[in-house]
Amino acid sequence: KGLTRFENEPFADFTQETVRRAFVDALAVVRTQLGKEYPLVIGGQEVRTADTLQSVNPANPNEVIGTICQASTKEIDLAIEAAKKAAPAWKALSPEERAGYLLKAAEIARTEIFTLCAWQTLEVGKQYDQAQADVAEAIDFMEYYAREMIRFGKPQRMGRAPGEMSQLMYQPKGIAAVIAPWNFPLAISCGMSSAAIVAGNPVLYKPAGPSSVVGFTLSEIFRKAGLPAGVFNYVPGRGSVMGDYLVEHPDVALIAFTGSMEVGHRIINKASVVHPGQKQIKKVIAELGGKNAIIIDDDADLDEAIREVLHSAFAFQGQKCSACSRVIVVEPIYAKFIERLVEGAKSLAIGPAEDPTYFMGPVVDDKAQQNVLKYIGIATSEGKLLYSSPVPDSGYYAPLTIVEGITPEHRIAQEEVFGPVLAVMKVKNFDQAIEWANSTRYSLTGAVFSRSPKHLEKAREQFNVGNLYLNRGSTGALVERHPFGGFNMSGIGSKAGGPDYLLQFMDPRLVCENT
Ligand code: NAP
Repeated sequence: KGLTRFENEPFADFTQETVRRAFVDALAVVRTQLGKEYPLVIGGQEVRTADTLQSVNPANPNEVIGTICQASTKEIDLAIEAAKKAAPAWKALSPEERAGYLLKAAEIARTEIFTLCAWQTLEVGKQYDQAQADVAEAIDFMEYYAREMIRFGKPQRMGRAPGEMSQLMYQPKGIAAVIAPWNFPLAISCGMSSAAIVAGNPVLYKPAGPSSVVGFTLSEIFRKAGLPAGVFNYVPGRGSVMGDYLVEHPDVALIAFTGSMEVGHRIINKASVVHPGQKQIKKVIAELGGKNAIIIDDDADLDEAIREVLHSAFAFQGQKCSACSRVIVVEPIYAKFIERLVEGAKSLAIGPAEDPTYFMGPVVDDKAQQNVLKYIGIATSEGKLLYSSPVPDSGYYAPLTIVEGITPEHRIAQEEVFGPVLAVMKVKNFDQAIEWANSTRYSLTGAVFSRSPKHLEKAREQFNVGNLYLNRGSTGALVERHPFGGFNMSGIGSKAGGPDYLLQFMDPRLVCENT
C-alpha cells in the first residue's frame, strides 16, 4: 500500500565537489577498518573457522582488505540446518511482509551508499562511477523484486467457468544456494539473493573469493534490515573445497549462479544428479560469459562510437560480462575509425581506482593478471598489435591492448578474456559484420552504430544476442529498463531485473474448487 512506481536509483554526479568529497571521506573511513577478520554468519550467529583467505587491494597487494573465514563442508551443513529452521516461518509471511524487508534493506544501502562503494574501490578496483553504479543496481534489484513479489503474490483466477474457482499461485522452491562472481560484487550478489529471499527461499550465499568483504557488506545490510536469523546465511568458502558439496547437497532446491562458462557447466552437471534423500529436481539459474561485439557501420557517428566502444571495452578494465571484446568495422570507414580509436585509447590513463584521474585500474588479482597477459600473447601472435598502454610497475595491472587483423577462426575472437583486450575485425560490408558478430557460441550483449534504418532493422532481426543496443554501448543495463541476460553458452536463466526473473525462484500451484 502506498508503494510508488519503481524508479532507478540516480547516478551520482561526480562533477559536484560535494559528491566527490563524500566519496573521498568514505574511502578514508573504510581505510580505518581494513585488515579485520570476517566470520561466517549462519543462523544469525558468527562462526569462525581455522581456514582463512586474505583479500587484498589489487592496486597495492600489500594492503590487506580483510581476512575471511572459509566454510568447509561442516559449515555448509550448519547453514543448511539454519535455513531449514528458518524456512517455514519465512514462507508463511505474506509477499508484502517479505517485500517490506527488501525495501528496508534498500533504504539502508541508500544511506550508506558511499561507504559501500569505497569497499569496492579498495577490494576489487572499481572507479567511483563504476562502484556507485554497482551499489545503485543493488538498490534497484531490491526495490524492483519487492514490487514484483507483490505482483506475483496475488492468486490469479484462471478461466471463468461457472461453478468453479480455479486459482494459480506461487510458492517458494526451498533452500537456495547463491554463488556469485566478484565483478559486480554487490549488485549481482544482492540481485540473486534478494530475488530468492523475497520469493520465500532461505539463502546460503557464497561470494567469490576476491570480493568476500564486499559480500560481508551485503550480509550486514540484511542484518540491519532485521531479516530473521537463518534467512540469509553468509558462507564464504573456496569453490574448490565446498562448491561441489553445496551444489550437490540434497536439501538445496535451487542454485542461482553467475560466473564463468566452465564453472557454470560443472554446476549444471553436478546438480543434475539425484542424491539419496533428495526430494526435488534442482533448479539451476546460470548466467555465464560473453564475447560481445560492437559493429561500426560506414555511416556511424564516430564521435559517439569511439567514446562508447572505449567505455564498453575498457571501463572497469573490461571485466564485465557485457564488455565489448570485438569491434567489427566495415571497410569504408576502417582506417578513420582505427586511427581515432587508438588516439582515444592513448588518452586513457591507468592507475589506482581510488584516484579519479585514472580511467582504468588494476585487474582483480594475480590470477586474472596472468590470464590477461596470456591472452595478450595469443592476440598478438594471431593479429597485429595496434596499441598497448603503459602500466604502473606494482599492482595487478594489465595493459589496455588493441589488436587488429582478427578473423572468426582466431582464439581471441572466440574465447572470453575478461580483461582490457579488444580485437578489431575488418569486414567487407554490413552483412558480413552480422555474420561475424554471430560467429561465437556466446550470445550475451551486442551493439551497432549505424544511421541506416535498413541496417538497424537487419540487426534487430539477425544479431543474435540477449541484449542488443542500437547506437549506444554494450554495457550499463539498468534494472527494469534493460532486463539483462543471454542465451546459448551465455547462460540459462531468464533476465535479471526483468518481469520473468522471480518466477524462476518459485513453483506454480493450481487450486481448483468446485463451488
Ligand atoms: P568464476 O570463476 O566462474 O566464479 C564464480 C563463482 O563460482 C565464485 O564464487 C567461485 O568461487 C565459484 N566457484 C568456483 N568453483 C566452483 C565450484 N566447483 N562449485 C561451485 N562454485 C564454484 O567467475 P568469476 O571469475 O567470479 O566471474 C567472472 C565470470 O562471470 C565471467 O565469465 C563473466 O562473463 C561472468 N559473468 C556473467 C554475468 C552474466 O550476467 N551473464 C555477470 C557477471 C559475470 P571462488 O571465488 O571461491 O573460486
